[in-house]
Amino acid sequence: MAPCEYCEIQERKEGIIFQDDDIVIAVKDKVITPGQMTVFPKEHFTILEQVPENIFVKCAVMANKVSIAAFECLGAQGTNLLVRNGLGAWQNVPHFSIEIIPRTEKDNLNLQWQGKPLAEDETETTLKVIKDQLESFSKEETEKKEEKKKSTENTDEAAKPKGENYLLKSLKRIP
Ligand SMILES: [Zn+2]
Repeated sequence: MAPCEYCEIQERKEGIIFQDDDIVIAVKDKVITPGQMTVFPKEHFTILEQVPENIFVKCAVMANKVSIAAFECLGAQGTNLLVRNGLGAWQNVPHFSIEIIPRTEKDNLNLQWQGKPLAEDETETTLKVIKDQLESFSKEETEKKEEKKKSTENTDEAAKPKGENYLLKSLKRIP
């Protein structure tokens, strides 16, 4: 298997701008605008849903700091924060990351796309499945919190993965 570019950056210790116990901020060999930086967890997580919440929060906070630095020090007029999550989103490094792309009005980088109207029944179906899924996530969260409250002994049960079907489904999204 080809080595992961972001794990390799950590091994070579090249292009690293900042790091702490959990995250790395690095500059890649090839960038699309000057000052483009990438924030990623030190540990190898392929896609976003595998990243523990506290690590994701840390990545997001650091991405914002890099973005602020781009405004302050590089004269950026804007920043795009990009997460390519899964094969279908053109993820080309199998390690979760947030890229911070400093922008100017005249950089000619075209990240725009035209929206198109959806058929009404299409919208309805899409929104319904997402809404149902979000509600079930929120229910799971509540149940987890209640379980935690009830027993601090039986922690094994709460830490169990969400079942085989879920794992299989998430594997299909992994580059
Ligand atoms: Zn990696």
